[in-house]
Amino acid sequence: MKICIIGTGYVGLVTGVCFSDIGHNVICVDKNIKKINDLKKGIIPIFEPGLDELVKKNYKARRLNFTTDLINSIKKSNLIFICVGTPTKKKSYSADLNQIYSVVNVIRKNINKFKIIITKSTVPVTTGDKIEKLISYKKSKKLFSIVSNPEFLREGEAIRDFMYPDRIVVGTNNSKVNNILKNLYEPLIKRGGKYLNTSRRAAELIKYSSNSFLATKISFINEISNLCEKVNVDIQDVSIGMGLDSRIGSRFLRAGPGFGGSCFPKDTRALLDTAEKFNTKLSIINSAIKSNENRHDILLSKIKKIIKGKISKKKITFLGVTFKPNTDDMRESPAIKLIPKLHKQGAKISYYDPSGLKNVFKTYKNVNFFNKISSACKNCDLIILHTEWNEFRNLNFRKLVGNNKFSLYDMRNIYSKKKMINSGINYFSI
Ligand code: NAD
Repeated sequence: MKICIIGTGYVGLVTGVCFSDIGHNVICVDKNIKKINDLKKGIIPIFEPGLDELVKKNYKARRLNFTTDLINSIKKSNLIFICVGTPTKKKSYSADLNQIYSVVNVIRKNINKFKIIITKSTVPVTTGDKIEKLISYKKSKKLFSIVSNPEFLREGEAIRDFMYPDRIVVGTNNSKVNNILKNLYEPLIKRGGKYLNTSRRAAELIKYSSNSFLATKISFINEISNLCEKVNVDIQDVSIGMGLDSRIGSRFLRAGPGFGGSCFPKDTRALLDTAEKFNTKLSIINSAIKSNENRHDILLSKIKKIIKGKISKKKITFLGVTFKPNTDDMRESPAIKLIPKLHKQGAKISYYDPSGLKNVFKTYKNVNFFNKISSACKNCDLIILHTEWNEFRNLNFRKLVGNNKFSLYDMRNIYSKKKMINSGINYFSI
């Protein structure tokens, strides 16, 4: 099959590379010229384990190509996957679909033979209907079919998630088109991925509901951890005890600094916004969002307590600033809220992250990146373990700081409180 992937970001690049790896002919398109030129040279624009080798292998085998030429790529392909961004609109909760519609505009002018147009981007329910209406002003419905095929991969595990999916959801009422997509995904279905064909609207809603449910689980356990701190109970005991119930499950039930990343915050907001447009209240999701938005205030007051109220001039080191390990994605990371607030109150921030320097902090005078854990920690007053990268799991904090006078706030609960306190470290966790 000739596949065109529009948008070569976290989802588009992984989708394109994986489809090429299972034998399809893929052209990945992006409007970002530098990104495309880099990819042709084997320079990968994102940090994603395993991606590098797969891109090089399939590019060399000529199954995978990169271009900025959208029109030609559309004309040459049978299957067109839309993988552009759908961020939150400014000053609103709704999804900004400008990137989607600008691509749809080009597609509708360049349909030269039958095309299956698939939205892999996360889009609000009924977006597929709108795309179909827009294209049918210009082209006969016989020349195209609009499908929803939401993506469930997780950054940091993207290749594995794509190649060994739990489920593949395809939203279309057209049985011929459904068969084509089932064939496309056949190698992944053979590996155990469950294939689910639904209506287009249901597929769109499955994606938002799944992300909102997981985000709610995180907000839920974070609120329980607030109560645990008041009654001196270890939240991890509660998480484990709850998670052992197979109806509940242990995943996404770990207390921490709150949910972030490119999906949960924007998708919960967009679902709320969509529901409002259809005159429906989603009070649980609303609460999960509000709880998460207030999370950094709870963490800040704990930080103040740890350093006894005096933030000004204190040297605070962040270990990890991304929203989770094994990604360089900073979108809506809790650190983006915490660091500027601490900086405003006069703290001197050092940070180390295995995925490197972050542009979001470049404008702050007293926020500095160090490319070694030891340089970032030297002589600090407080270490905040913000992201659970594996390289933070076995550190000798005393040696790193160079004295005994520091505190450690482990926001991911990766160290044993007992061991830390026994070794004389002023240790705090969630
Ligand atoms: P991203 O911002 O990393 O990538 C989007 C890419 O689209 C960018 O490279 C951008 O230059 C390109 N683009 C925008 N307009 C274009 C145009 N007109 N022509 C060509 N290229 C264009 O976004 P992402 O994280 O890959 O997310 C894409 C979609 O997938 C979103 O809807 C997101 O919600 C969804 N999603 C993301 C993840 C994830 O973990 N990142 C997981 C599942 C679903």
